[in-house]
Amino acid sequence: MCGIIGYVGKNQKSLDVLITGLESLEYRGYDSAGVAFISDDKLNIVKEQGRIRNLKEKLDFNMPTNIGIGHTRWATHGLPKTVNAHPHNVSKITLVHNGIIENYEEIKEKFKTYNFKSETDTEVAACLLNNLYEKNNNMLDAIKEFIKEAKGAYALGIINTDYKDILYAVKKNSPLIIGVGKSENFIASDVHAILKYTNKYIVLEDETFAKITKDEINIFDKNGNSISYVIKEFNEDEKVCSKGIYDHFMLKEINEQPEVIKKTIESCLINKKIDFSKYLENKNIKKIVIIACGSAVNAGYVGKFLIEEYANIPVDVEIASEFRYKKVFINKECLVIPISQSGETADTLEALKIAKSYGCYTLGIINVVESSIARICDDVIYIKAGPEIAVATTKAYLAQVLVLTLLAIYLGKKNNLINEKLEQELEQELNLLPNKIESLLENKDYEKIAKELYSKQDIFFIGRNVDYALCMEGSLKLKEISYIHSEAYAAGELKHGTISLIDSNTPTIAIITKKSIASKTISNVKEIKSREGKIILVTSSDTYNINDSDYDYEIVIPKTKEIFRPILAIVPLQLISYYVAKLKGCDIDKPKNLAKSVTVE
Ligand code: GLU
Repeated sequence: MCGIIGYVGKNQKSLDVLITGLESLEYRGYDSAGVAFISDDKLNIVKEQGRIRNLKEKLDFNMPTNIGIGHTRWATHGLPKTVNAHPHNVSKITLVHNGIIENYEEIKEKFKTYNFKSETDTEVAACLLNNLYEKNNNMLDAIKEFIKEAKGAYALGIINTDYKDILYAVKKNSPLIIGVGKSENFIASDVHAILKYTNKYIVLEDETFAKITKDEINIFDKNGNSISYVIKEFNEDEKVCSKGIYDHFMLKEINEQPEVIKKTIESCLINKKIDFSKYLENKNIKKIVIIACGSAVNAGYVGKFLIEEYANIPVDVEIASEFRYKKVFINKECLVIPISQSGETADTLEALKIAKSYGCYTLGIINVVESSIARICDDVIYIKAGPEIAVATTKAYLAQVLVLTLLAIYLGKKNNLINEKLEQELEQELNLLPNKIESLLENKDYEKIAKELYSKQDIFFIGRNVDYALCMEGSLKLKEISYIHSEAYAAGELKHGTISLIDSNTPTIAIITKKSIASKTISNVKEIKSREGKIILVTSSDTYNINDSDYDYEIVIPKTKEIFRPILAIVPLQLISYYVAKLKGCDIDKPKNLAKSVTVE
């Protein structure tokens, strides 16, 4: 989490660069923000609680400066108050930090006499670095020793007032890139923060550090040896980062889904056929283990049901933060699939490292090219979602579900469970999905349903099998952006206790897309109706036979093959959540307490 930006150069006013960068990084954390810069030979630090717009009001953009660092925070240690906001300064050292210094209490103990102003682990890091600098009288040696002493995760942007034209950066387990300009250079948590100025960048590797002036970039390994680096080019359009005609990024991203699905399908076809043979042809897979967090776990559950049904391969879905600390049952015949939009999710990254140590083949499903997880995986299937700015994922989740669906078809074919005729039918139908999503986007009933829901305290989602997996995502989306408590329940499980919570004020959204078990879920719907619970159905027209009196609202998804129904059925859930949150006046793109790209454990 948190966004880091840094600038050294003569061509721009660094305050402009810092604030523009922070604004594009705000999705990573937004409880406070701050900048440090040198102007007229003097260090200035300005920070403020809340959004970047609050910080902007405190800044004089006319102050001349050619070096600075900035930060937008997602608090891990200490309340989101101005005093805990970054940058933190200790004597000559001023720094911004993304991550957690795990041994900060131990380090703090060593500096008992120092009067710490904040509750953060970051100020402790600044204290340690300053101490090492005073001892060595050399920044490179100080950073080298810092890497030895500090445990946990950190990306640091550092200014030392003894060297007013040098920016330092060091990274371990948190993302950081160096932007390469002409007579100016940058550091940032992601490339988008600097695209206005340059599309050339270097990915800083773990346990390496950089000394950056306006004209020169030097990178060192943890032993202080100078190392070579590759300058990459980012070629996506910066304009994708604006909301365009939409009120919110989330709505824009929901509306981009037909295009995302189209592009992702294209990237998974060879000669018009779903083809993952370059990854899987010679692999004898006995089990699949999906490792992910948040919505990506929910996508994983959809994948599990589809792969098990269509390819007859058992699939375990592991919550990455749990997987890290449990007994592992992985061997060389397992295929491990980490799923992450950002490719930087700390829990997934660490879980992946554990899985790899068992000698299995790892195939990532990731959005951000060249991200940390992507670089560790043996191979990657990139979803083509493009930058996702809204904190609550929509288009990336959908593209993850799509890739897992295509994997189910490919593996089903490989295991002789899907014959050529069915394969052709599926491939034909596949191409119709973008238009079908388009028609779902045009439905006007979501706002009507949202009006019914937005004043409620609790909402249930029920479904069976793959519909239950969709419920998990529908419920998460609603919680994330509208703050309404909701739970996803396996429809048959409700009667084993939870049905005691159903009454006329507790509505239920029931998802029914699987014909073979539709009648079972319908029985559960009737049980709820008998207890005066309101029912909203999301269903496909040919799955059920239900009386009008058994439900209150109904969204019917367009006709498609059963395997593709999850891809359609999630869209109404996204839009219902969106309109509920809008009616409640919530900050939809930046829900409270959340941040995108969760780079802390
Ligand atoms: N651990 C630091 C803090 O709480 C940095 C958190 C972040 O990555 O934003 O201030």
